[in-house]
Amino acid sequence: MRIDLHIHTRPKSPCSAIDPAALLGAAARAGLDGICLTEHQNRWSPEEMEGLLREREIRVFQGNEITTNQGDILVFGYDRDIKGVVPIQDLRNEVQAVGGLMIAAHPFRGFLLFGITQLQMDVEQASRRAVFQYVDGLEVHNCKVTDPENDMARRVAERLGLRALAGSDAHRLDEVGRCVTILEKEVRTEAEPIEELRAGRFTVENRR
Ligand SMILES: [Zn+2]
Ligand SMILES: [Zn+2]
Repeated sequence: MRIDLHIHTRPKSPCSAIDPAALLGAAARAGLDGICLTEHQNRWSPEEMEGLLREREIRVFQGNEITTNQGDILVFGYDRDIKGVVPIQDLRNEVQAVGGLMIAAHPFRGFLLFGITQLQMDVEQASRRAVFQYVDGLEVHNCKVTDPENDMARRVAERLGLRALAGSDAHRLDEVGRCVTILEKEVRTEAEPIEELRAGRFTVENRR
């Protein structure tokens, strides 16, 4: 099952240009079976989700992208509507208590700008970033960052034995489905994809 785990729509994520009404059509055209809405510190109400779900062939899940003192974290299976910057340790405790998953979003975004090569940061140094102590995995394909930044994330995930996920971080319709997580089995409930991701029963693809 092909799913894009990282999508922003407007107005819930003001930085996004994606009209939710056009999202499912774009997802189908991109060959996706499912999408996960990850607005910035914002959630869809059950009624709003119901409205979106009228078109049933694409399954729609909901996560959240939460700003922490250690960067942006995608959270799945944790439905508190959080505003403001959160200490990552507090978020970790709460998410673990409800059996959710925490994924470091674009963990090396902007690092090339500051110069991974100039700073000579190697995988070992990169792996020591505090954020990685608090997450279950990281995005190794994110369409908003450069290839070397994604590559560094992939190498860090390998080194630390963390799950390596993909999500487009789509803010425009044409970005939907560029980075895909492919689950081995079909999932329906909100809990199932989390189970599958936790068990590592998935592969990733970057179609950028
Ligand atoms: Zn954004
Ligand atoms: Zn995002």
